[in-house]
Amino acid sequence: MTDAGRRAELAASLDRVRERIARACLAAGRPPDAVTLTAVTKTYPASDVLLLAGLGVTDVAENRDQEASAKAAAVHAEGVRPRWHFVGQLQRNKVRSVIGYADVIESVDSVRLAGALGRATVERESPIDVLVQVSLDGDPARGGVSGDDLWRVSDAVASSDGLRLAGVMAVAPRGEDPGAAFARLEVLAGQMAVRYPGASTVSAGMSGDLEAAVRYGATHVRIGTSLLGMRNSLR
Ligand SMILES: *Cc1c(COP(=O)(O)O)cnc(C)c1O
Repeated sequence: MTDAGRRAELAASLDRVRERIARACLAAGRPPDAVTLTAVTKTYPASDVLLLAGLGVTDVAENRDQEASAKAAAVHAEGVRPRWHFVGQLQRNKVRSVIGYADVIESVDSVRLAGALGRATVERESPIDVLVQVSLDGDPARGGVSGDDLWRVSDAVASSDGLRLAGVMAVAPRGEDPGAAFARLEVLAGQMAVRYPGASTVSAGMSGDLEAAVRYGATHVRIGTSLLGMRNSLR
């Protein structure tokens, strides 16, 4: 496809997604600008990130360091600087690479990972934003903390100079009404904001369940498929 063709395609899907977010905000009695769209660009090329940025998308997310670091370098070489979110499982040996381009790390779910990030960022001028990933189904295989681990990991992040605890992130469990799961997340997010003033980001909602997430207080929705199209690989 030509660049102009792809641009028109992305502009149309972006309009549809923004419309969905606006409607969901209206239905929830929240102001239309209460929710930030994060475009999940995994498996799609740097050229798509550049087109989306040109269409006004400010935040993009990636889930694999190798792909993300190359893509970020290509985008930055064009003088474009979106806010990069890292949303994938993060191995401790990838921490140094990820903090080289990421502005927000959404998938911190262990004290050990928080510690590795804290050591790697100790000399940064401005702290990096961290969201603690919450498991809404208690299945540790899918990432995220459960129970009091939320507070153990949050304390580890909050006590690191190079990190700023910004809030929570979650993925809706399979096989459950996403609204019920996001309602539980909303309770935890409320407790976090009381415990750590300023930690008010709630990253929840994907292409299939953004309306439920907005209803239960998401401040950021992470949209891949509805914006960019179906991914070839299963991730
Ligand atoms: C891929 C991914 C998304 C986007 O999912 P879509 O269903 O394509 O919108 C959101 N969050 C995370 C953590 C992802 O890995």
